[in-house]
Amino acid sequence: MSRIVVLGGGESGVGSAVLAKVKGFDVFLSDMGKISDSYVEVLKKWDIPYEMGQHTEELILNADEIIKSPGIPLTAPMVKKAEDKGIHIISEIEFAGRYDTAKKVCITGSNGKTTTTSLIYYLLKNAGLNVGLGGNIGKSYALQVATEHYDIYVLELSSFQLDNMYDFKADIAIITNITPDHLDRYDHKMENYVKAKFRITRNMKEDDCFIFCSDDEITIKHLDDIILKAKSLPFTQKTEVAQGAFVKDDKMVVRVGNQECDMYLQELALSGKHNVYNSMAAAIAGKVMDIDNETIRRSLSTFQAVEHRLEKVLSIKDVLYINDSKATNVDAAWYALECQTRPVVWIVGGKDKGNDYSVLNELVKQKVKAIVCMGLHNEKIHEAFEGIVGKENMVDTKSAEEAVKACSKMAQPGDVVLLSPCCASFDLFKSYEDRGRQFKEAVRNL
Ligand code: ADP
Repeated sequence: MSRIVVLGGGESGVGSAVLAKVKGFDVFLSDMGKISDSYVEVLKKWDIPYEMGQHTEELILNADEIIKSPGIPLTAPMVKKAEDKGIHIISEIEFAGRYDTAKKVCITGSNGKTTTTSLIYYLLKNAGLNVGLGGNIGKSYALQVATEHYDIYVLELSSFQLDNMYDFKADIAIITNITPDHLDRYDHKMENYVKAKFRITRNMKEDDCFIFCSDDEITIKHLDDIILKAKSLPFTQKTEVAQGAFVKDDKMVVRVGNQECDMYLQELALSGKHNVYNSMAAAIAGKVMDIDNETIRRSLSTFQAVEHRLEKVLSIKDVLYINDSKATNVDAAWYALECQTRPVVWIVGGKDKGNDYSVLNELVKQKVKAIVCMGLHNEKIHEAFEGIVGKENMVDTKSAEEAVKACSKMAQPGDVVLLSPCCASFDLFKSYEDRGRQFKEAVRNL
């Protein structure tokens, strides 16, 4: 019996271990850190041997194949050792793909993955299809392949999940956009990160479709350098295209084959220029899958925003509070600011990933009246924006409660309080979800 060792005991690793068990492998799971109680329970239920707090070499380096969780960098010592020994290292997606005959719609990109993935899932559900949702969102893909049956999967794939993917093939692949992010994991080389994203198009054939943003220079430049067999379907807000999606006057138009679907931008459930892109990507995928125009229009106009993504929380004394905690990089915050039509009191800050704030200058000048910094180190934010909003309109806070109270003092009726922090959350919070929930709680307590 061949031996599979899974490194990492989170959603991805535990799902992979269950699938390996179901497929009859000799499985072992190892995590250097602590495995949460709920995952330990799953491992016990499936009778899967595991260890935590250590990596025992003898139990790992005897593997025929290793499944590496996306959170573990390729440079981790145990991964290096396994590589040196010539053990094949694959990702959960690669492994699960071997046992899955469903059609796969896969989404990656720097921003907009979760939104676009959820939109497409919602659309296909509305069309009455038997569809599963997985990858970086919800239940792991591997666990679902092990325990459920779907005709179609909509999978959100981060670049880390695309690393160590070799034979997996998407039927429809989407790259929403590519902007610098996570460069620490890619030798600080943008080209490595771009290449990781483009792995989503590996193995695609003439019948498959690649959907991408043709307004995104990085995507376009890389497309020039590769040979892609799949049909290319761009979406753009700048020009009209013969195939793909574009904006004309106040409508979004989608053309796939000899089919056309249009819809007023006003009717889209999700606001903002970035969500026009996400909606166009979803609509193209819908048309490729032959979904009727009515279902596409109905889905894109009734979709509810995903939690922590420009989520409207409450309006108090005509001040609207918006939770965009998921905006963990400058580009995401750019789009959040861009779509605001009311004066903004902006909550920003957290763990800086090497941000260059200057791209926000123009928008801050136009839209932001006050800034509430929420983080342990706010010097860079002061440096970037004091000259624009004025020192007297900036305050420092160290918790969601403090930040929300400061905002409520600075905001006037008609304003918006926007949490769109540009930064990771780990200095003050457990995760971006924790940050968003504490923000919402503080708003409700006002
Ligand atoms: P991801 O899953 O890629 O992190 P999300 O859909 O969770 O993306 O959105 C994260 C943040 O990025 C949102 O808060 C939003 O402000 C911003 N965003 C969403 N879609 C786009 C897009 N197409 N382009 C740029 N920014 C976007």
